[in-house]
Amino acid sequence: MGRKPQRIVEAAIIERIGPVTAQELMAMSDDSWGLIRDQITDRRNGKDGLVARCLACECEVYIRTSKPRGIARPLFQHYNGSDPDCRWFQGRNIKPDAARAAQYHGKQESNFHRLMCELVGELAALDPRYIKHTVAQYRPPTENEHGRYPDTYVEWDGFGPFVVEFQMSGTFQTEISARCKHYEREGIPLLWVLFGLDTAAALPQSFIDVIRRHRGNAFMLDQAAVAASREQKTLVLSCYLRGPDGELKVPELVRFDALTIPRSKLPYHEDRIVGPRLAEIEQARRPWFSALAKWEDRFKPLGDLERPQSLLLAAAFSIIAAANGKERNYASGHSNISAMLNTYLSTKVLSPYSDLLKQIIENTRGSGIIKASVHDHLRRYRDAVQATRESRECVNGGAKVGHSAA
Ligand SMILES: [Zn+2]
Repeated sequence: MGRKPQRIVEAAIIERIGPVTAQELMAMSDDSWGLIRDQITDRRNGKDGLVARCLACECEVYIRTSKPRGIARPLFQHYNGSDPDCRWFQGRNIKPDAARAAQYHGKQESNFHRLMCELVGELAALDPRYIKHTVAQYRPPTENEHGRYPDTYVEWDGFGPFVVEFQMSGTFQTEISARCKHYEREGIPLLWVLFGLDTAAALPQSFIDVIRRHRGNAFMLDQAAVAASREQKTLVLSCYLRGPDGELKVPELVRFDALTIPRSKLPYHEDRIVGPRLAEIEQARRPWFSALAKWEDRFKPLGDLERPQSLLLAAAFSIIAAANGKERNYASGHSNISAMLNTYLSTKVLSPYSDLLKQIIENTRGSGIIKASVHDHLRRYRDAVQATRESRECVNGGAKVGHSAA
């Protein structure tokens, strides 16, 4: 006789431990879940112990065991008398109507959401710098049109305020963007914490977006993070770092106060995006820099380039080097690169490349180093026909590299 598949409690929130999914419970060692099971039962019997609640209906649950093939596996189960409308209630098999199921799905997410926001506040309060926190409370803006209702807002003495927002499955990209920009303007660090991250499955796009904004870091407040927070008496998160193919690595526990807070105010543990990208550009440039350093006779071509292209490349790399704080003139004997550029422009050697040079200067923070007279020369000696990024000399390296500069 075939048995109907039984509904199970997919997640519970356990006092002092945090949210635990059915999957996580199953993955615990027998002693770990056994100990929790004992403490839940103890509490139910009026002694010291733990309360565990179903994330869908908030009714108390316990850990029961099932024995497929004789091996005990743990499962959450509602106590008798729980809400029979809970979508995870294993009572008699009543076919739930679709509207009700949807309603409870929404309720489950909002219950969970509120419990997680409160948990963040509770953990942040363990830190001796703690001043106060609010959950879903309106904060007026300092200079913007709208205020916001941050999930959890915390103030720590000597650290300042910060905000934690939970990324739920249905959070829209526009909402994510609006919140990011709001807190950036307000100068308040914003940490997005993901819920329901399944590292084995393909990530939903909304998660991918948030992970990218945090420079390839995915933050979660899972059991390990909650336990570490209590132990270290500060907010600790589990951080998954994005690998080169977008896959997430084994998480590390990171203290919130040890994260790097960039100008965007979106903290990260390890930069997996901007840093590697810059390193890549650096790699691509290195052979050109070393070839240029050895290029002594500037009337001979550089590699297989023509002389004008060689000079364009040398000029472009001189601008990049100067922008990086290591001024060096690869293109001529002039003591500064402005004089070099002015000479090659007025003699029309670099005139087909005026537009490219201008772009390279703008894209490399080079504008601070280049004298005003160079901008005059770029205009005055500009050829009507201009080389573009698609021109051969650009594809060969020089202007293309200049374009990639941060
Ligand atoms: Zn329930």
